Amino acid sequence: MHCPFCRHADSRVMDSRTSEDGASIRRRRQCPECGMRFSTTETASLTVVKRSGVIESFSRHKIVNGVRKACQGRPVSESDLALLAQKVEETVRATGSSQIEANEIGLAILEPLRNLDEVAFMRFASVYQGWESLADFEAAINVLRANREYAESNETFDLNETKRLTDR
Ligand SMILES: [Zn+2]
Repeated sequence: MHCPFCRHADSRVMDSRTSEDGASIRRRRQCPECGMRFSTTETASLTVVKRSGVIESFSRHKIVNGVRKACQGRPVSESDLALLAQKVEETVRATGSSQIEANEIGLAILEPLRNLDEVAFMRFASVYQGWESLADFEAAINVLRANREYAESNETFDLNETKRLTDR
C-alpha cells in the first residue's frame, strides 16, 4: 500500500481491527519513509451486474441515493437511510454470492423500506416494479394492509379481550 503523503511504495501495519458487523477490517498504517499515519479499510468485493450488462462495485451510497428520492417529504432521516443501506448490503452478502444482479438489490430494498415508511415504499416499488395501473397500486395496498393486520394481530386480540371484560 502506497503512502498517500509521500507515495513511498510500502507501509507498515500497526493495528488491525474487524468492524462490529464483521464485514470489514480497518488497518492503522505508518509510512516508514515520512512517518505519517493513515488507515485503510478492507472489504470483500461485491459486484453488481446492471440490466445493461455493465458491472460495477456495490455501493451503499448508491442505495441511499436511489431510495432518498422516494423518501422526499417523508419523515425519514439520513441515518434511517444509512441503516437501510446496511441492511440491504447484509441481505445481498448473505446470499453468499460475490456478484449479484441489480434486480436482487431492488428486491432487498423493498422489505426494509416498507418497514421504514409505507409511502416511500409505494413510490419506490411503483417505479422499480413498473406499476402501470390502479390495480397494481391496489394490490400493493392490500399486501401492506394484510401485513399490518398480521403485525397488529396480538394488539387487536388484547383490545378485544379488554372490551369483552368491560362489556360484562
Ligand atoms: Zn510517506
